[in-house]
Amino acid sequence: MRHRHRVAIVGGGFGGLFTAKQLARADVDVTLINRTNHHLFQPLLYQVATGLLSEGDIAPPLREVLRKQRNTSVVLGEVVGIDLDGRHLTVQTLDQRSEIAYDSLIVATGASQSYFGHPEFAHHAPGMKTIDDALELRGRIFGAFEMAEREPDPSARRRWLTFVVVGAGPTGVELAGQLIELSRHSLRGNFRRIDPAEARIVLLDASPTILGAFPESLRQRGTRDLQDLGVEMHLGTVVTGVDERGVETNSADPRLRRIEAAAKIWAAGVQASPLGQMLAAAAGAELDRAGRVKVEPDCTLPGHPEVFVIGDLMSLAGLPGVSQVAIQSGRHAADTIRRRITGDDTPRPFHYRDRGAMATIALFRALATIGRVRVAGFAAWVLWLAVHLAALIGFRNRVFVLFNWTAALLGGGRAERVVTAQQVFGRHAMAAQAAVTRGEVPRV
Ligand SMILES: Cc1cc2nc3c(=O)[nH]c(=O)nc-3n(C[C@H](O)[C@H](O)[C@H](O)COP(=O)(O)OP(=O)(O)OC[C@H]3O[C@@H](n4cnc5c(N)ncnc54)[C@H](O)[C@@H]3O)c2cc1C
Repeated sequence: MRHRHRVAIVGGGFGGLFTAKQLARADVDVTLINRTNHHLFQPLLYQVATGLLSEGDIAPPLREVLRKQRNTSVVLGEVVGIDLDGRHLTVQTLDQRSEIAYDSLIVATGASQSYFGHPEFAHHAPGMKTIDDALELRGRIFGAFEMAEREPDPSARRRWLTFVVVGAGPTGVELAGQLIELSRHSLRGNFRRIDPAEARIVLLDASPTILGAFPESLRQRGTRDLQDLGVEMHLGTVVTGVDERGVETNSADPRLRRIEAAAKIWAAGVQASPLGQMLAAAAGAELDRAGRVKVEPDCTLPGHPEVFVIGDLMSLAGLPGVSQVAIQSGRHAADTIRRRITGDDTPRPFHYRDRGAMATIALFRALATIGRVRVAGFAAWVLWLAVHLAALIGFRNRVFVLFNWTAALLGGGRAERVVTAQQVFGRHAMAAQAAVTRGEVPRV
């Protein structure tokens, strides 16, 4: 029996979701496979970790987002195999395995955190890529204040109140700024024995500057802003060890060789999804240093014009791993498929339109670059708010995020501080740390 052209999309992030939307009115059947039931707006994850937003605010269910798109089905599951010759995927959902056949395939499985050859650091310094990561960090951050409140020993209390952020890209900078606001403002009056404002926020990076992708003038402004706020920055400093009690560095300053800190957050480096390796092995394609697949100029896998690799998993002309690259490469792949089913097979290269970059540092302070225009301070902060609100998926999410931001701005503090028993890893990590403090278990 003849069937409509079948498009399988692996990944429901920016790349996968925008590809599916672009195919809404195409004469194709689309299957979107994602290992979580939601799309995730990663740029605001740090606000979930620091109690400003709830996870639902930034993670709308994919089924809901695509409910009106009649040609599209959503499948919850992890793609564990790709048969390029047989043109089908193997999908694992809990203990069930199934196969999904395709005529065109879009692989948009993104990237995870890279610990630069030290995966063991992850246990003590979680990264921030998923909702689980953000909730885990929320548990560790608020847990550290709770433990400090109960800690009679001043040096142990100091450790609970020291937060180390590794990586001074936009995520690390934004997180450091939020930790300052949390400790200096949001938690004011919440504790009886400690002053949360005494928290020490340390930002480390191996490179000599913060926000490496931003122009020099904005980097300088960002550095000044962070210093004014009270963030302790140590640049050109490589983290060489991470354990329950703190981090070790290569700093020439003996006081920085070891920083005692309960909560450590890893915001440095990315490693492409393992599906990149799988595709490269099957197609004989090359990977770049971050494990991203080197694609043809039209985003297709070499030797397989029916397979597109897009977004953070794609390596093409040095394009950065940002949401606009994922969205635009997804739309390009969808347009190519639409053209092909109408008989136009001419390959067209993908042209990226750079819309600029933004980072918020704290309330009323942000940095933005759009073309040749550079903006800093309040104007950039308003721009940042508007752009992020507009980019959120779904009207409900926009309304809730705006409400939470307004409430926090008007002095309502941070409402999303729930840490549940489900967040066991965070709870266990804190318990282990408490045991170390009491001298009950050896330090690892
Ligand atoms: C904390 C943080 C802050 C950021 N801030 C910004 C910012 O301010 N501005 C900006 O432009 N960019 C930002 N980025 C980068 C931006 O989020 C990414 O570039 C973008 O999400 C990439 O889109 P993608 O579709 O390639 O991958 P993702 O959005 O990561 O989506 C990948 C999807 O694939 C799914 N998946 C993975 N493996 C499988 C599998 N085997 N089977 C099925 N599904 C799978 C995942 O669950 C996920 O839904 C940020 C990223 C992070 C982590």
